Amino acid sequence: MTTRPEPRQITILGSTGSIGRSALEVVRRYPDMFRIGALAAHSNTELLCAQIHEFRPATVALHDEAAAARLRAMEPGCRVLSGPGGLEEVAALPADTVLCAVVGAVGLAPLLAAIDAGNRVAVANKEPFVMAGRLVMERARARGVEVLPVDSEHNAVFQCLQGHDIRDVRCIHLTASGGPFYGMPREALQFITPAQATRHPTWRMGAKISVDSATLMNKGLEIVEAMWLFGLPQDRIEVVVHPQSTVHSLVEFNDGNILAQLGVTDMKTPILYALAWPDRAPAPIARLDLKALSGLTFAEPCFDEFPCLALARRAAAEGGTATAVLNAANEEAVSAFCAERLPFLDIAGVVAAVCGLCPAESSYDLASVLDADRRARAAAAAVIAEMELRTTC
Ligand code: NDP
Ligand code: MG
Repeated sequence: MTTRPEPRQITILGSTGSIGRSALEVVRRYPDMFRIGALAAHSNTELLCAQIHEFRPATVALHDEAAAARLRAMEPGCRVLSGPGGLEEVAALPADTVLCAVVGAVGLAPLLAAIDAGNRVAVANKEPFVMAGRLVMERARARGVEVLPVDSEHNAVFQCLQGHDIRDVRCIHLTASGGPFYGMPREALQFITPAQATRHPTWRMGAKISVDSATLMNKGLEIVEAMWLFGLPQDRIEVVVHPQSTVHSLVEFNDGNILAQLGVTDMKTPILYALAWPDRAPAPIARLDLKALSGLTFAEPCFDEFPCLALARRAAAEGGTATAVLNAANEEAVSAFCAERLPFLDIAGVVAAVCGLCPAESSYDLASVLDADRRARAAAAAVIAEMELRTTC
């Protein structure tokens, strides 16, 4: 008689977000395969409370101290940690897989904590890779920890690379939908509001990544993410415009063969793959109906109106702490845009100005990355304040 394997214990950092909620839908769908050990978020007490009732994690963490205090009063039976340290502690608890799905640079410390504890990580949170990808991958290698990409393009590349040697790869083609404003003239982009920028044509996502998709910075961040995940220089990571978002990315080998991964536009599919890896789940979340596809197109990108992609490529080519500066400047600019303090077109202006103001160090350790991040945020705050002053005068 064969015994059924125990469900895998999953920790989700960012359980109340778009990726976190999709991951919990996967766990809900496959209770025999997965169970929740721990959850973490920033301050959404109500949703975390509902998730505690449904998934019964032994430990949770909220970054926000006041929200954590409220949750402790609501859930006396659950261990509630708090602050940045709480997130790291949760990441380091024994787990089969830690899904890293918080948004932004704040995810770097818990990602490293999960790796240092020897936990396999499934990573959606791309900003830590942009800040310190070399460091993350070196730590993972030293600790023998598997790093599984959840970002749909990187998950696609990872799947296409199974059984292949990276030395046989000529280049990677990351597909880009182009975001909601691709092809629009510059004049039309001037008055884009946060509500318009967070409405993506093919994916439903959190606010920050939606704005990044609209400025094309998301594709720039993904180039850096791919460099470190797959060990390729930025000039061997191409971007191709594919508005249907059906082919999630492609790998071109030296012998001319190209492998692609196709699927529905639903993040639950790459999440399921990463959580089940190296196995495959017995049934899909949703099946792609090939016969219903009306046509797949691929085009040379024309990103003249979207300078963020070029800024990201430049930082990637420069290396060192340049991409940490880029990431911090972008996070600050996107946050100012979402608060209606900065026009859409000035996001790229802020990033360009900060990259010019903060020279990069060519080699780095964690301290220099965090220092570059701090300096870039301070420079971005000054640049944004100056821009605001100019528009109000
Ligand atoms: P959301 O904004 O929807 O969710 C963010 C999550 O992070 C929430 O759970 C939020 O908690 C939590 N969080 C935010 N700040 C902190 C903090 N300081 N400490 C602890 N938790 C925090 O983002 P997404 O789910 O869209 O994206 C998450 C990451 O995945 C991003 O890096 C994004 O680039 C990447 N990604 C997302 C995709 C998508 O389809 N959404 C696709 C590919 C990659 P709270 O709710 O309490 O604020
Ligand atoms: Mg992506």
